[in-house]
Amino acid sequence: AAKRAGRGTCRFFESDMNEAATRTLQIQQALHEALDKEYFSLRFQPKFYGRDGALAGAEALLRLNHPTLGLLSPAEFISIAERNGQIVPIGYWVVREACRQIRRWQAAGLKTTKVAINLSPRQLAQPDLLETIQEIVHAERMSPEKIMFEITETAAMHDVRRTAETVHAFQKCGFEVAIDDFGTGYSSLAYLQRFRVRQLKIDRFFVDGLDAHDSEGTAIVAAIIKLAHSLGMNVVAEGVETESQREKLEALRCDQLQGYLLGVPLTPDAFGVLLGGPGEPLPPSATVTA
Ligand code: C2E
Ligand code: MG
Ligand code: MG
Ligand code: MG
Repeated sequence: AAKRAGRGTCRFFESDMNEAATRTLQIQQALHEALDKEYFSLRFQPKFYGRDGALAGAEALLRLNHPTLGLLSPAEFISIAERNGQIVPIGYWVVREACRQIRRWQAAGLKTTKVAINLSPRQLAQPDLLETIQEIVHAERMSPEKIMFEITETAAMHDVRRTAETVHAFQKCGFEVAIDDFGTGYSSLAYLQRFRVRQLKIDRFFVDGLDAHDSEGTAIVAAIIKLAHSLGMNVVAEGVETESQREKLEALRCDQLQGYLLGVPLTPDAFGVLLGGPGEPLPPSATVTA
């Protein structure tokens, strides 16, 4: 009965809806207010060189800290923001905040690294994406060389020609571009050549496969690394969680490693320690606050 009275009269009862739908509505509402009320923050997950373990860069990862819903991870809200289009203004906030954070580290006298920012399909579909990003970066007096963008393989493959143009335009303006979550989509490896990105990030599904008992998982990762290198790309392994994965990746000459084994997503201050700032480097297990 409540359902029939529902539309426009707000007489839904929670018990009438399944929990997931309620949660989705709560998150939609939270997203609606999030920019104005400053609910968003960034974490920075380090990427390290496989060769010598030196810091190679950071990936900015968005968090939504809501007064009643708590700290939400992108897994919960990105797809909703993507569907309703809010990801577009949110994405510009991420670019601005990443620039500001780099400046804060610089102001504290720290050497900074490149910061990678994730772009989702809806953002890539904006005709003025690059123009707007350039305006923000310029207004924040940040150099494009300090910023790179990650595009998932699935998003990249949606329109190969357009992606190739977008990647080219970004690179012409000084921004580096990476293909993210590689291997989860269905691209022919040959398409990689058309994107001409500098960096390929192997999805953690394949990194998990390195620990399998048979050798097939390792053979696949070896093949991806070889191919990427032959196309002039550097390779990042995502989701490195075990010592044996690290050893295998190093033996396969994987250029960079990222994952909980080496470093979880960190607050700006905690990341500052990696940049030479004051404080104790926390053991990864103590900082899993995602
Ligand atoms: P992604 O870009 O592939 O980021 C990697 C995700 O894996 C992150 O989850 C990270 O916390 C997690 N991760 C890192 N190391 C490990 C590990 O060793 N093991 C496991 N199990 N997970 C690990 P997070 O932060 O929840 O982000 C999820 C996804 O949300 C990201 O995947 C990215 O696609 C998207 N995302 C995050 N921030 C943004 C943003 O600012 N804008 C857009 N458009 N998307 C974002
Ligand atoms: Mg990413
Ligand atoms: Mg990824
Ligand atoms: Mg992902």
